Amino acid sequence: GPFVYAPAPESRAVVDLAPSYGLFIDGEFTEAADGQVFKTLSPSTEEVLAEVARAGAEDVDRAVGAARGAFGPWSALPGSERAKYLFRIARIIQERSRELAVLETLDNGKPIKETRDSDLPLVAAHFFYYAGWADKLEHAGFGPAPRPLGVAAQVIPWNFPLLMLAWKIAPALAAGNTVVLKPAETTPLSALFFADICRSAGLPKGVVNILPGYGDAGAALTAHPDVDKVAFTGSTAVGKEIARTVAGTRKKLTLELGGKGANIVFDDAPLDQAVEGVVNGVFFNQGQVCCAGSRLLVQESVAEEVVDALKRRLATLRLGDPLDKNTDIGAINSAGQLARITELTDAGEAEGAERWSAPCELPSTGHWFAPTVFTQVTQAHRIAREEIFGPVLSVLTFRTPAEAVAKANNTPYGLSAGIWSEKGSRILAVAERLRAGVVWANSFNKFDPTSPFGGYKESGHGREGGRHGLEAYLDVR
Ligand code: NAD
Repeated sequence: GPFVYAPAPESRAVVDLAPSYGLFIDGEFTEAADGQVFKTLSPSTEEVLAEVARAGAEDVDRAVGAARGAFGPWSALPGSERAKYLFRIARIIQERSRELAVLETLDNGKPIKETRDSDLPLVAAHFFYYAGWADKLEHAGFGPAPRPLGVAAQVIPWNFPLLMLAWKIAPALAAGNTVVLKPAETTPLSALFFADICRSAGLPKGVVNILPGYGDAGAALTAHPDVDKVAFTGSTAVGKEIARTVAGTRKKLTLELGGKGANIVFDDAPLDQAVEGVVNGVFFNQGQVCCAGSRLLVQESVAEEVVDALKRRLATLRLGDPLDKNTDIGAINSAGQLARITELTDAGEAEGAERWSAPCELPSTGHWFAPTVFTQVTQAHRIAREEIFGPVLSVLTFRTPAEAVAKANNTPYGLSAGIWSEKGSRILAVAERLRAGVVWANSFNKFDPTSPFGGYKESGHGREGGRHGLEAYLDVR
């Protein structure tokens, strides 16, 4: 389709960015102890959005101390009191969701359509949902008096900055824990905006602390001796490193790591609907989604028809200014991420897969990658095995349900899968045999705060969301 790159200054004006931002420790914004700062850039224009204080080990120590100090009084509050704060936070998020959506789009590069219609409503929903749990812990099947764990260290990635924060902070606070959260280095701004929301909600000082910074701050935080619980979302490599750090300590650990989800399309599926679902499954958020359906497993008899329809559909997607409401495909979050996508897609071609890219012109500034489909893919190819975390689909075929299951499970990951078929009995039989934490039937990428989410195998352990997500922040007795 025709590609239009039109800056949208009117929506940009919704957020009033300050030139610099601090760390949020014990209810105050403050500079880093060693005065270090870093710049956060717009992935679509490469302009500097703001300068942000960069947390170091000393700041981690201060923040953990603040969280420890706040833990006693916070955990002693009746659940109904904690609920009031969480409901207040949820309402302020709703009231300020337009600003937050624009801010998230500026810092992350994802289309405003997504931040406005997916990220922000889900963020508010998580706070409302867990606010509702805060005064019901005794009735949740955790025994008579479940206790919070204490100070939670939370490290999150850049793909859903505010939503990952909500997944981590809402259940932790509802259960009576206090938190120190480190946002990703490329997307610190919405977490700092959230810190300000905590202040507006009158949240007691030290209950939430936000430490923008790099991996060294994440490592110092997860290794801190006065932390009781570590929750991490990000790459499998860093997740394993954190698991090693935490091993042999008193800390509880949950990990949400990578994925290589399969979308399985049977020949009896409603094909138009399946094609939409496959597109949404791997091109939503430029494919930078841990549960992306990055492998299409399509039954041989309809493979050609499905791939043709996919290409026709992809050619209509609009790539460009993330602030434009008509944009479907935004920018890739960072130069580093773009380099990883490029490296893996080059490997796909070199290993003999056939590459097709949607016809669109890429802007001259910023980080972009056209929607891409690989056919003639075998299970041995790197693009079939490794997480690409970009707008890239690898197509494989199968003949029988057993072959579909075997191929879907042929991965070290186990986060997500989708099944497309008109036959309910087939969906249930296949779902039963898939080793994945979430299986969608005739849909994909549907999220809800009431549903537990998490992975099998190297996709991590523990669950977030729902009652299970609450349990991850409680000692049951
Ligand atoms: P990453 O795992 O390096 O970063 C995630 C978070 O961990 C960031 O906040 C980062 O600062 C922090 N971190 C980095 N090193 C750390 C350490 N040693 N100890 C504690 N915290 C540390 O991810 P990335 O480099 O941004 O992305 C690399 C790949 O990871 C992507 O290509 C993708 O495949 C995968 N990824 C997965 C998810 C997911 O949702 N599961 C999210 C982001 C990236």
